[in-house]
Amino acid sequence: MAVEKACRRCRYVSTGADKCPACGSDDLTENWAGFVIIINPDKSEFTQLIEAKMAGKYALRIK
Ligand SMILES: [Zn+2]
Repeated sequence: MAVEKACRRCRYVSTGADKCPACGSDDLTENWAGFVIIINPDKSEFTQLIEAKMAGKYALRIK
């Protein structure tokens, strides 16, 4: 089973990737908790808060 990892730079959560599909960083961690699903990055206040650029799943807490 693929492990979900969160990007330390932009919080984007990806499955089975070596690099973050959102920002290209390879600083990924399995130690994260909680997430939000961003469907429309342009219209969400939360995406502006964390500077999310694309739709997807974002970790709330990264250890
Ligand atoms: Zn990233």
